[in-house]
Amino acid sequence: MNEELSGKTKLRKGSFFWALLKMNMLPLILLTLVITTFSAARFAASMNREAQNGLVDLCHTVMTLYDTVYEGDYHIDDVNGSTVMMKGEQPLNGNFEIIDSIKEQTGVDVTIFYQDTRVITTVQNNDGMRAIGTKANTTVVQDVLQGGQPHFYASTMVEGVRYFSYYEPIYASDGSCIGMFFLGKPSAEVRRLVRNSLIPTIGFCILTMLIVCLVTVGFSNKLVSAIRKTESFVETIAKGNLHTEFDADVLNRKDELGDMGQYLIKMQQALRNLVEQDTLTGLYNRRSGEQMLRNIHKNYQKEGTPFCVAIGDIDHFKRVNDTYGHECGDVALMEIAAQIQEHMKGRGFVARWGGEEVLLVYANMELETAAGCIEELMEDIRSKRIVYEDTSLSITMTFGLTEGNGGRIEHIVRDADARLYEGKNSGRDRLVYEAV
Ligand code: GH3
Ligand code: MG
Ligand code: MG
Repeated sequence: MNEELSGKTKLRKGSFFWALLKMNMLPLILLTLVITTFSAARFAASMNREAQNGLVDLCHTVMTLYDTVYEGDYHIDDVNGSTVMMKGEQPLNGNFEIIDSIKEQTGVDVTIFYQDTRVITTVQNNDGMRAIGTKANTTVVQDVLQGGQPHFYASTMVEGVRYFSYYEPIYASDGSCIGMFFLGKPSAEVRRLVRNSLIPTIGFCILTMLIVCLVTVGFSNKLVSAIRKTESFVETIAKGNLHTEFDADVLNRKDELGDMGQYLIKMQQALRNLVEQDTLTGLYNRRSGEQMLRNIHKNYQKEGTPFCVAIGDIDHFKRVNDTYGHECGDVALMEIAAQIQEHMKGRGFVARWGGEEVLLVYANMELETAAGCIEELMEDIRSKRIVYEDTSLSITMTFGLTEGNGGRIEHIVRDADARLYEGKNSGRDRLVYEAV
């Protein structure tokens, strides 16, 4: 039997195991991918929304704070020849107190623009200096300054850094838009936040998928192992070994494989009967009798277990046929066969050797004991009445018995046969053997 058929599960392309894995794993992996991607996208979108709402709220808080701390409108003053952005009486230029504390508490950058120019800001340029005097990009200018509408951007460049940002226009008392508030978080930071929140979710999905995969592999493995054992059993029978045993675990299964196992056992038994049994008497036929004798002989050679071989033949059986008919002869043969079979139980086996001849093999038995058994059997046969229709008859048999040895089987059988001949020639209805 090759290794693949020994019940072990091997991952072979095109195998049943492979098909089962594909059938279970592919949809599972696909489903996990879809669920993970979908939830990640949904989650990222909701995080963005939340960040956006956070920026909007914070911007309004900051604006309210400016209104509370510095009463009055936003306007422009000319101080010593330079333009200064004012909130009420308070010049905003150079006044970083509020925006710095917001940055410190929330990590959000704040800028106040006069028109498109940064007046005060927490954003730093490449040299680590506040990016005062730098300009807003043109899209922002168009949307917020000129359009007069607040705007959220998922991605804008501020001093070489990509920002997640919110701009709100600043109006003077005459209703003209004179500047903008900017609140923003570097996109990388937002992305990191989203990633950090997503990793456990994705990890959990993948872990669940792995566990389900392992369970699937385990179940598939068990199922395929049972199929392999069944395949191995059928293969062994196909090779002619009708005595192989079927795996008990598979037989005990309550599913179709268990049922199939039961049918296979029945099939094996039917095949054995066909191949090994004599159809008329139900005894082993000559071929299987020879095979069984070979096994017992091997046992003797290996372990010295004693055995005896006898050949028995019905006396004047031709007369039975001639007198009472062939069918009556058949009945007599069947009954005698059943009687001998019963007698051999626990002692060895009997096979139909020829027409009305039988081979008896006493396993693990010395010659004298076997002789005693045969004498007993002969007495039973003698006293038995065989009834067929209106006829009742009795039968006798002659036996030749010999002790098994390590020599050739043919010689042992020939020896028993020679003694049977002796018995026939010396009057029949007797046992001939040579006591040691
Ligand atoms: P002996 O005592 O010398 O053995 O005499 P015998 O008549 O038994 O010996 P012989 O070999 O002359 O005859 C054997 C007979 O057994 C002949 C044959 O028709 C009969 N026989 C063999 N097989 C069967 C069978 O299956 N059914 C029946 N009815 N008869 C069988
Ligand atoms: Mg005979
Ligand atoms: Mg004969």
